[in-house]
Amino acid sequence: MISVVIPAYNEEKNIPILYEKLKRVLDALGEDYEIIVVDDGSTDKTPEVLKELAKKDPRLKVIRFRRNYGQTAAIYAGFEHAKGDVIITMDADLQNDPEDIPRLLEKLSEGYDIVSGWRKDRKDPFLSRKLPSKIANWVISRVTGVPLHDYGCTLKAYRSEIAKRYRLYGDMHRFLPALAKRFGAKITEIPVKHHPRLYGKSKYGIDRTIRVILDIFLIKFLNEYITRPLYVFGGIGFILFGLGVLFGLYLTFLKLFMGQDIGHRPLLILSVLLILSGIQLISTGIIAELIVRTYYETRGEKPYIIEETINLDGERRDGSHT
Ligand code: UDP
Ligand code: MG
Repeated sequence: MISVVIPAYNEEKNIPILYEKLKRVLDALGEDYEIIVVDDGSTDKTPEVLKELAKKDPRLKVIRFRRNYGQTAAIYAGFEHAKGDVIITMDADLQNDPEDIPRLLEKLSEGYDIVSGWRKDRKDPFLSRKLPSKIANWVISRVTGVPLHDYGCTLKAYRSEIAKRYRLYGDMHRFLPALAKRFGAKITEIPVKHHPRLYGKSKYGIDRTIRVILDIFLIKFLNEYITRPLYVFGGIGFILFGLGVLFGLYLTFLKLFMGQDIGHRPLLILSVLLILSGIQLISTGIIAELIVRTYYETRGEKPYIIEETINLDGERRDGSHT
């Protein structure tokens, strides 16, 4: 079964057109499907439009948020309710084209876990959107080691076990491919069509780029150090602490054996500062270790995913027991 998840915020004019196009494409596939539209607290006629459409089509499912929570929250809610083995996400504004879906599915069936769309010929303003996005994609690819041309493209296909694995916060939905890499997910991309927005306004501007850059640091951390934060914090703390002790010993030597006055030395302040921040960082690392353990235990999650077992019963892919 295929679940199509669509976040929509004030897209009254786009939804009926999108629905018709999507239905045509999905019907032609000849597989069971559902369309989940998450109305992210729209203030226009979007809820009414969806209600009308859903009356006639039980495969159109609608989740309506109380207020506007943002695109990531909408996608997350869609994932939570999706019943398909495959989940496709796309925008509600007709910038993504439903006709690309069969190609995404085909690629997925070649054995990939995530197939990401690449808006090769993107129809958005250059300076405010395309250029920052190019830079951001380059940086994200470098930092995460998952090279994709277009992290920001909502049109993506996921195996549902991958999509459902993460709680998504902030603007995180775009980083799912990078997060999934931690579990050895196979990720690829294919060029997809992109259309200019005909109705309604874009909800984002240049400010999003800054948030994206900040998220990259978090992803890097989540991917590489989440299971051993003590190494990160403790490592830096250890170096600072060591330097501080060294300076301190040097000053002590000057005082005791050379009879020098050290009270006025800037080095003394530096030494004390280094020792204190070193201790701080090491204890932060230890606390982070405790938090990470709670994180895994409360979620009943293992820090690994098993691909396959032989002669072992009842063990699932995520390492938990059935
Ligand atoms: N969207 C949403 N909640 C928001 C902002 C956007 O659900 O707070 C939806 C919006 O309706 C659209 C998709 O997310 O379907 C992408 O938004 P938009 O087209 O404004 O972004 P752009 O294509 O300009 O990056
Ligand atoms: Mg758009």
